[in-house]
Amino acid sequence: MPMSADFKQRLFPALPAIAQHFATPFHIYDEKGIRATGAALKQAFAGIDGFREYFAVKALPNKRIMQIMLEMGFGFDCSSIPELAMSRELGASGEQIMFTSNNTSAEEFDWAAKDGGSILNLDDISLIDKVVDFPELICFRYNPGPRRTGNVIIGNPVEAKYGITHEQVLDAYRRARQRGARRFGLHTMVASNELDYTYMVETARMVLEIAAMVKEQLDIEFEFVNIGGGFGIPYQPDQQPLALETMASEITALFNDFKQRHGFVPHMYMESGRYMTGPHGCLVTSAINFKDTYRQYVGVDACMSALMRPALYGAYHHIDVVGKEDQPADMVYDVVGSLCENNDKFAVQRALPRIEEGDLLAIHDSGAHGHAMGFQYNGRLRPKELLLRRDGTVELIRRAETMADYFATQCFDADEFQP
Ligand SMILES: *Cc1c(COP(=O)(O)O)cnc(C)c1O
Repeated sequence: MPMSADFKQRLFPALPAIAQHFATPFHIYDEKGIRATGAALKQAFAGIDGFREYFAVKALPNKRIMQIMLEMGFGFDCSSIPELAMSRELGASGEQIMFTSNNTSAEEFDWAAKDGGSILNLDDISLIDKVVDFPELICFRYNPGPRRTGNVIIGNPVEAKYGITHEQVLDAYRRARQRGARRFGLHTMVASNELDYTYMVETARMVLEIAAMVKEQLDIEFEFVNIGGGFGIPYQPDQQPLALETMASEITALFNDFKQRHGFVPHMYMESGRYMTGPHGCLVTSAINFKDTYRQYVGVDACMSALMRPALYGAYHHIDVVGKEDQPADMVYDVVGSLCENNDKFAVQRALPRIEEGDLLAIHDSGAHGHAMGFQYNGRLRPKELLLRRDGTVELIRRAETMADYFATQCFDADEFQP
């Protein structure tokens, strides 16, 4: 089921008042739910020594949310300079930050190394010589290529631009050691929004097999293996959630077995984004227009600048009409924004209860890769973000974009040049 019943129960009765105070549209996130998921993750993997989640910042890059991640003992997975800067502003540094960039620039390497550094996760063997001050601790991103078939969203590993090949693994660590590295980790990310837990167990098995090979061939004992993000969430009402506990117990068994056979065992890291925050957010928008042409349209006051996934991937996001959850879904609507693109639709031919002007629509599961993917195309600015706190109060955690923000990059010092 998308969006937990508990979140819905706490949120929906209060939504009309929240909407009146803050004005729609907005994303609202559930502190209680995020903390519960974080606690469940830690509990599930408690049997693995040194387990750590590095929250994938790109999923929900809001400082208030990231503060909650820090309070839970999580680190941050960053892949750009602004993400690094934001993590550091919150006090994270060194091994609390994993820097997983690809096609990395010299400026990014500089940033990754400064202010207490970060764990450098190299995407390619050619980057080894581009790191100026080679760190003591180094990690490589591994791409299994034809050894794994990718899952649906991330695609086939052979076609993915990320990571080093299987054949490059030994050379990569050998060269890193020559450059002065003394501590080592291995990273991979081969799935996205994967609901089949066995795929994640296979990923853990895969990285441990590489760990065994590198130990045997190079006598390097990995300090950690990172199985990446990609834990799925059910967007559709009939989908089952990821079987977290079963998955964790099977992965824990693999780590225990590894330790018995090899006399050491790496820590396990992961970098979930979607799983941590996705179901704990929704986009709340008001119905403002109705149109009866070849189809029945409901126009809402949010558009794809607030949530791109339906337009970008045809992704399904469940919708509740607040206060009408128990009414029969006897209408069929396209729920649309105002952007001049015909794919600006939150739902296409969706069965919903009859909607009236002023009704609030809650578009589920906008807590990850939602606001963050937004953009300003067509002058459609991004909405505000709110946090439903544990005590039931609501906090503004990002204001809506303004026209001043939109114009900001056109205020600059004149520069003309005759080449
Ligand atoms: C996007 C990304 C993640 C997070 O993916 P989710 O599907 O949100 O879990 C983790 N690691 C890397 C390297 C990523 O690019």
